[in-house]
Amino acid sequence: MSDTIDTLVSHWIRPEIRALSAYHVQDAAGLVKLDAMENPYTWPDALRAEWAELLRHTDVNRYPDPAAQALSARLAGAMGVPEGMRLVLGNGSDELIQMICMALSGPGRCVLSVDPGFVMYRMIATFCGMPYVGVPLRADDFSLDLPALRQAMDEHQPAVVFLAYPNNPTGNLYAESDILEVIEAAPGLVVVDEAYAPFTDASFMARLGRHDNLLVMRTVSKMGLAGLRLGLLAGPPAWLDEFDKVRLPYNINVLTQVSAEFALRHKAVFDEQTARIRAERERLGAALAALPGVTVYPSQANFILMRTPPGRAGEWFDGLKARGVLIKNLDGAHPLLADCLRPTVGTPEENDRLIEALRALAG
Ligand SMILES: *Cc1c(COP(=O)(O)O)cnc(C)c1O
Repeated sequence: MSDTIDTLVSHWIRPEIRALSAYHVQDAAGLVKLDAMENPYTWPDALRAEWAELLRHTDVNRYPDPAAQALSARLAGAMGVPEGMRLVLGNGSDELIQMICMALSGPGRCVLSVDPGFVMYRMIATFCGMPYVGVPLRADDFSLDLPALRQAMDEHQPAVVFLAYPNNPTGNLYAESDILEVIEAAPGLVVVDEAYAPFTDASFMARLGRHDNLLVMRTVSKMGLAGLRLGLLAGPPAWLDEFDKVRLPYNINVLTQVSAEFALRHKAVFDEQTARIRAERERLGAALAALPGVTVYPSQANFILMRTPPGRAGEWFDGLKARGVLIKNLDGAHPLLADCLRPTVGTPEENDRLIEALRALAG
């Protein structure tokens, strides 16, 4: 029986899927959770009560609004989507990446991005049967290597280029002029992924409509609603009307629609929280940079990329875990990330625990 099922599976599951490892999420039970770029702050009690009341009156026997109109209008306002642009919503921006790849895939079509970058671009390209081309960032400051990008776009003619702005896992913003050059030179779409928009003043949103091949993607995950799973893709209707065709009906469930619309009506609460995270990012970054032998990279996101002294990343990661703090170990994820760790910015108390534990480990 098991021989037969193994034979069947290896015959029918595509080899590139069999070669993948499933997206791994670390077990965080009992630990200070600084591994996943979540907002550490919960909602004030009054807001929670009002939300619960709203959910009490929400019916789940009916399908949700297929176009999520109230939520879309609220999102367009909150995110500054320019007049005349269209939105498509996804079950997290991960689903939007998947919709883009599904609509673009075909013989000779590839996805291009930069490495180290957001792993889902590569994974979803693979799910959709598209080759992934990863162009290395510059080793010293993780900036875009324009000659290499031009050469790769020339050679591979990518259907879409994904650029996270700021980048994950490096935290930096690319030069605006470099991204503009990529937009000019790309043969197909360029998606600027602004998942970390709450933590930076930089954005390409206002440029939508000025370039035929530019789309901007956002998510509510990093602003404090990661559990709702909601992302948005904004751009010219000519593109978005096509992507909307591969969207599964009712992909944004009714609880998410009601809850996100409610949360965005109280956006000031989240703006205050993300402002606190931004301030803490500076304090945490300075404390980490003061550790002996540690390099801290400038971050415009809600996490910090740091490099430990050679060969210490694994030991520090384990030592932090033993002291009750979970972060992300990036050592081994990419050659440019050797000895690198990536803590998410937490509350002042959580950050203090991280700093204290690292001080003990660094000696
Ligand atoms: C976290 C992250 C996302 C994922 O967003 P979801 O809306 O939670 O799926 C997308 N892009 C980048 C660069 C991210 O870091």
